[in-house]
Amino acid sequence: MTIAIYPGSFDPITRGHLDIIKRASPLFDELIIGIYDQPEKQLLFSTQERVEIVKQAVADLPNVRVEAYSGLTIDFARQVKAKVIVRGLRMSSDFEREFEMAMMNKKLAPELELVCLMASLQYQFLSSSLLKEVAKLGGCLEDFVPDHVAQVLRSKFSRELSELPKKGVLL
Ligand code: ADP
Repeated sequence: MTIAIYPGSFDPITRGHLDIIKRASPLFDELIIGIYDQPEKQLLFSTQERVEIVKQAVADLPNVRVEAYSGLTIDFARQVKAKVIVRGLRMSSDFEREFEMAMMNKKLAPELELVCLMASLQYQFLSSSLLKEVAKLGGCLEDFVPDHVAQVLRSKFSRELSELPKKGVLL
């Protein structure tokens, strides 16, 4: 039985991530999406929110499950008995960083293999951070995320906007 993990921040999950998940899941007996608890970047969604949002997005994929993790990705892989780490690669932007991480992970855990899937053409320029900017400025989100993700993004940002005057008064 070959188990793979697909680790990341997923803040929030996009159609680009989902494309990788749908293409990777038939390649393994089980694909576990690892939601990294505390990445260095500032997050919009809590770990619990990200887990729930991803769970809803992959509910129709029987061999995919979702788990939060903290610490090293290789330790998470070992803990769930995965042999493979899956990552998605967009144009040139991801390559250097992924290569660096792959080399380090290989040194730390030689038994793990990395499988990188190239991002599909229509998602090459899609990132969670760009998506959050579009959402913040009220742009249309449906091409980039499933409906339930568009809804939570909108409600997150409308709440933030409604809190602005209060913040102003406090300042
Ligand atoms: P991380 O903080 O680990 O980069 P992300 O959630 O940004 O977490 O990305 C998780 C994985 O998904 C990474 O391998 C990233 O390159 C890949 N990825 C992100 N966006 C896309 C996309 N639009 N198409 C394909 N893969 C993507």
